[in-house]
Amino acid sequence: MFGPNFQEGHKIRCGERIQVELEEDDSLAMEVILKALHYHKPNQCPVDAERLASIAVHCDKYDCTGALSSWISYWLNNLTPITRRPEDLGFLLLAAYNFDDAEQFKEISARALRDLTLDFPLAWKSYNILSLLPENIPSIMTTQIQGMLRQLHIITQSVETILRQNKSGYEMQRQVCMNCGRTPPMEARKCHPCNNPTLYQRYCTFESRVAEYFAILAKEELWPSVTPFEICSLSDLVLRLTCAKNDVKHSCVAGSRCPLNSELGQLCDRVCRFETGVVGLCLRCVKRGEWNESQSCTCT
Ligand SMILES: [Zn+2]
Ligand SMILES: [Zn+2]
Ligand SMILES: [Zn+2]
Repeated sequence: MFGPNFQEGHKIRCGERIQVELEEDDSLAMEVILKALHYHKPNQCPVDAERLASIAVHCDKYDCTGALSSWISYWLNNLTPITRRPEDLGFLLLAAYNFDDAEQFKEISARALRDLTLDFPLAWKSYNILSLLPENIPSIMTTQIQGMLRQLHIITQSVETILRQNKSGYEMQRQVCMNCGRTPPMEARKCHPCNNPTLYQRYCTFESRVAEYFAILAKEELWPSVTPFEICSLSDLVLRLTCAKNDVKHSCVAGSRCPLNSELGQLCDRVCRFETGVVGLCLRCVKRGEWNESQSCTCT
């Protein structure tokens, strides 16, 4: 526009001041860009995730990403760790996509895969700017989130089968009252609420461990399991499973060797590793349209 072949460029070369109308542009985003380009600190204009997406779209339009690279890293590095809302993750993805920042795109998409629930496209639909993200990105992410939730569900369910395989029984540090089902401590001589002096030793058996496992899941609203493993995010489910392990009150003479305690510990380690192992999308593969089939990076 400012070259000699354009009217504006010609006028500048003749020493005239020109006024350029940027009617379709987001004026606040342009203000931040122009300030940064002219070495003014654009800090006065607060840059949130939505504004950053708009800045990225305008940078791409006016081809000034290179000139703003240090500001772009600064904004993305500041915003990525504090972003939680589904639309904000969408804005940051759009920003990294338009800034062509593969490293940030990978990090933000990994974060989005862990933190988004499957209804995220609904939240994204409310923001016009997010329609600028290529269509394949929401669909790739939906497929990957579905796959991960399914795997996490299978891991959680597999604990029941493992618990059923170990038939060992252990004494518990509790008695049981056959009248009311209460479990008074070992030193109690009777069940006070029903005045029953006949108390029996309570045992930790594979059946009681399976029942207790499901009770623990239910307390974290993870049982019945079909719905939560469809409507929650991966990070939310992992957090609940971690809480389930930390809240467990089971105590039998086997202590930490009790299959219930050790399986809960292993489940927790496994799902945490699963969450931290989530790999984000490769921007190059996504742009080449190669991510859909392989769901992994094919760049060499
Ligand atoms: Zn009782
Ligand atoms: Zn036990
Ligand atoms: Zn790749």
